[in-house]
Amino acid sequence: MTKSEQVLPAYTAFERRETRIESVYQGYLLALEQAGFDGDIDGSYSGRLMAATDNSVYQQLPQAVLYPRTTAAVQQAFALAQYDQFRSVKFSPRGGGTGTNGQSLSAGIVVDLSRYFHQVAEVNADEGWVRCQTGVVKDALNDAVREFGLFFSPDLSTSNRATIGGMINTDASGQGSLVYGKTSDHVLELKAVLLNGECITTAPKSLEQAQQIAATETLEGAIYRQVLATCVDLRDAIEAKFPPLNRFLTGYDLKHCYDPERQLIDVSRLLAGSEGTLACIVEAKLNLTPIPRHKVLVNVKYSDFQSALRNAPFLVKARATSVETIDSNVLNLARQDIIWHQVAAQLQEVEGQAMHGINMVEFTAVDDAEINEKVDSLTAALDDLINSQPELGVIGYQVCRDASSIQTIYAMRKKAVGLLGATRGRRKPVAFAEDTAVPPENLADFIAEFRAILNSYELHYGMFGHVDAGVLHVRPALDMTDPEDEVLLRQISDQVAALTAKYGGLMWGEHGKGYRSEYAPSFFGDELYGELQKIKAVFDPDNRLNPGKICTPFGTTAKLVSVDATKRGYFDRQIPIEVRDDYAAAMNCNGNGLCFNYAADSAMCPSFKATGDRRNSPKGRATLIREWLRLNAEHKFDATGFPQQGRFELFKQIPSAEKFDFNHEVKAAMESCLACKACASQCPVKVDVPSFRAKFLAWYYELYRRPVKDYLVKNVEPLAQAMAKWPRLGNLLSHNPFSLWVTRKLFGYIDAPKLSVPSAASRWKSRQWLHLSEHELAAMPKRELQQCVVIVQDPFTSFYEAELLEAFAQLALKIGFKPVLLAFKGNGKAQHVKGFLKSFKQTADKVASQLNAVAKLKVPMIGLDASTVLCLHDEYAQYTKHPINYQVQLVQEWLVDVLPERASAIAMKTPTQSLQLFTHCTEQTAMPKAAQHWQKIFSTWRIPLQVQASGCCGMAGTFGHEVENQAVSQKLYNLSWREKVEQEAVITLATGFSCRSQVERMSTKKRALHPLQWLAENCA
Ligand SMILES: Cc1cc2nc3c(=O)[nH]c(=O)nc-3n(C[C@H](O)[C@H](O)[C@H](O)COP(=O)(O)OP(=O)(O)OC[C@H]3O[C@@H](n4cnc5c(N)ncnc54)[C@H](O)[C@@H]3O)c2cc1C
Ligand code: SF4
Ligand code: SF4
Repeated sequence: MTKSEQVLPAYTAFERRETRIESVYQGYLLALEQAGFDGDIDGSYSGRLMAATDNSVYQQLPQAVLYPRTTAAVQQAFALAQYDQFRSVKFSPRGGGTGTNGQSLSAGIVVDLSRYFHQVAEVNADEGWVRCQTGVVKDALNDAVREFGLFFSPDLSTSNRATIGGMINTDASGQGSLVYGKTSDHVLELKAVLLNGECITTAPKSLEQAQQIAATETLEGAIYRQVLATCVDLRDAIEAKFPPLNRFLTGYDLKHCYDPERQLIDVSRLLAGSEGTLACIVEAKLNLTPIPRHKVLVNVKYSDFQSALRNAPFLVKARATSVETIDSNVLNLARQDIIWHQVAAQLQEVEGQAMHGINMVEFTAVDDAEINEKVDSLTAALDDLINSQPELGVIGYQVCRDASSIQTIYAMRKKAVGLLGATRGRRKPVAFAEDTAVPPENLADFIAEFRAILNSYELHYGMFGHVDAGVLHVRPALDMTDPEDEVLLRQISDQVAALTAKYGGLMWGEHGKGYRSEYAPSFFGDELYGELQKIKAVFDPDNRLNPGKICTPFGTTAKLVSVDATKRGYFDRQIPIEVRDDYAAAMNCNGNGLCFNYAADSAMCPSFKATGDRRNSPKGRATLIREWLRLNAEHKFDATGFPQQGRFELFKQIPSAEKFDFNHEVKAAMESCLACKACASQCPVKVDVPSFRAKFLAWYYELYRRPVKDYLVKNVEPLAQAMAKWPRLGNLLSHNPFSLWVTRKLFGYIDAPKLSVPSAASRWKSRQWLHLSEHELAAMPKRELQQCVVIVQDPFTSFYEAELLEAFAQLALKIGFKPVLLAFKGNGKAQHVKGFLKSFKQTADKVASQLNAVAKLKVPMIGLDASTVLCLHDEYAQYTKHPINYQVQLVQEWLVDVLPERASAIAMKTPTQSLQLFTHCTEQTAMPKAAQHWQKIFSTWRIPLQVQASGCCGMAGTFGHEVENQAVSQKLYNLSWREKVEQEAVITLATGFSCRSQVERMSTKKRALHPLQWLAENCA
């Protein structure tokens, strides 16, 4: 069979041992369902794949994922597993799934609290604490307590997606830990479900109380008996072994569980850092810290990274709250990332010197005078170093006092891991020795030796971290699909474990142990490791809670998990290399989870935000595509390129909801994507979901019949173009009650916009403006051509919002240009979105050729709709046979250039209400300067324009018009648009056609205008 004849196989059976749900688990899940489990039970292959990876190199398929809604449901799930027939069922709790060492991966059942355990139950501002469920994301918790002037202070880079449960169980910490400490330092009380279904509350207890509990015959009693025997009786051995670092080593904090001075026992200290091996923690009472009123960041610049490391103790001595570092590799990647636009002003290059490292020194204080004194004394000392000791490598510094700039610099630092993922080549930075901690005074020497190890293997790496605490994040680049690099990972792991021990440190300074648990016995020594095992045995004698992590139960032959466990690379390497290259966007996802960002006003990722289902996220979709490609490889099906033959619909199968096919699971995840493209620019490794989604849909619909509505979308451009010739008739035909009913019932579309009356073409004709083909343009005299601005039409504006085109033309005329409407040949974005790739390619070829011809004339080419203009560059570059020699600018990009010299020609009225601007989410993420440009344009007439942070409005092209997407569309609008749009006395401006349509139908009493329309309506 030739490639062009092949049809995607149906993946209907999973007979392979490793993908089948084991019979005991099938029985357990059925029993749980019959018992009325309050939550979701997901045994689907796609659902299990979502929990098979985290940010580590490992991949482990669980049997199922449970999403309990209540504590009682967790208790019920555990209690059911006590029946004899289910005693081999194992569990691993999970939160945000951002672990870097496979901590939450399991061959048993994953209990995921991130979907429903979101409640912040109680805030006591007077006493400074909060009680919350453990599925709450750390930043969301801080949102909830901010109004009280308090925050949960332990920080971590993944704060916008990691959960409180995950933080507690890895004892997370990060920037500012010298002052704010680790998560365990802030745990006041925990509610935990034990394996037998019992629920206990842990809080500090006097020795006497602890002994009373120990005397009871409950599981809790047994736990206290063991705790007293280990933590009190073996105090000396424990103190001798636990390193005097600010970092704790995950795995049962024997040292802090007992406070000999205050004679207190605190079992929460054992649970914190236990990586889900002792219990499922459902609720936490956490200590809160007053938000420092004053914060200043001093960014110190260095000629080399080693100088930055050696300079760290000097900075800490300056009474800094934290000192964070970044090396030149990370800096260079940040320079190429979208985030650089926001931080460049705070990290200006030093004239005549190359900046190869920075330290970010934070000062906090309760009053201005105190902070100024600290900052002044540091900057004076730095001036001195720069002038008198240039050999120390300090080349400059910048003081940053503005809160939002400080936040963006930290956002850049938090993005560092992701940025490293954008490293070119097959070798990508991977986590396995990424959070070493050594006493800070040893850091520079330790790093020198660490680098020597990596250099000896000629590996590329980037470094950043918390130099104040001696923690450095290093991710060497390896190709995990190459078995030889997998061997290297083991060798380097062993060497780094030995090196950290040599410098009195830990290999797991911050992220926990996970698959590195195999190093625990040698680290703790026989006696203390045995005690850890006894603790494990009393909680979980049969090794059923996250088995193999931290330690095994005392007296059993159970084994620890190992660094050599099955890795994602094992599965990825089964996909032929050319296929991997063709689907690089999906292959490159490194699972850092940035796309799980909880924040309503962030662009990524609307479908995940609206559904809470990780299948509907960029990571989820990339995971499913990789598995689909692997199955394709097993079946010798080549999914490179796209299907060429275009099979006749009648020859295709009708997709059946009853008949299982993994293709359907992948398709469901792809169809829920809004194609907003936020992932393509916001994901640090640019996982562009719409690019592989289109390919998948193209293959899928060669096997299965398409819904009729897809054909409507495919042909929407020529259809609208034809109807726009007689727009009144077109509207009559399309918007009468019968047609609306048919459109809804047959095509599943609602709220379609009406054609503009008069049409764009008629407006141009009546005003005698130029409406030309590329050939007619080329025939124009050169002098006349020089005055022209060419409007590249898009279907939305031209056919449904012709008044906007007219507004632009009027403005262009006022500033001395002739607006030329370029003959419409199509755009094709909708064809790409629906996976009609053959048709899309034809459209792209036609339009690219037209635009190339116009580009030769050297006239400005302007588009009004961001998503379609971006398509002319991004998607066209992947499909057209023509080179992309043209540059179509968005209207604000052009205006911002030409307006300063010409704006005096226009008098603008002063607005009576304030103006707020929403940029289209595709534009916001791909062109981060768009909002700034509009502000600049309005400032020409001294009109303030407030830019609103917003996520997707929920319309996204045709998505919001589809009946089946109404719930998601509305939810997204409510999440980040409705309240702002419906404010009193504010005029809303929105750059996206979709967004304006969404405002019109969701906030019926409000209107959103394109900024151009407002200008046109208000200029004299
Ligand atoms: C890019 C990147 C940067 C990172 N930076 C930092 C950093 O600065 N500081 C830091 O400390 N970590 C960091 N991490 C690691 C990771 O984010 C933390 O370990 C985080 O605390 C994990 O939270 P989570 O909700 O994702 O937990 P998961 O990964 O889901 O789980 C982590 C562990 O906690 C257990 N667990 C989760 N919830 C519960 C529960 N309710 N009850 C019992 N056990 C539970 C799981 O079984 C697992 O063992 C980083 C990770 C990435 C990918
Ligand atoms: S899609 Fe991007 S942001 Fe999401 S997990 Fe993958 S690499 Fe990270
Ligand atoms: S295109 Fe938008 S909805 Fe689709 S995966 Fe990317 S961010 Fe999510």
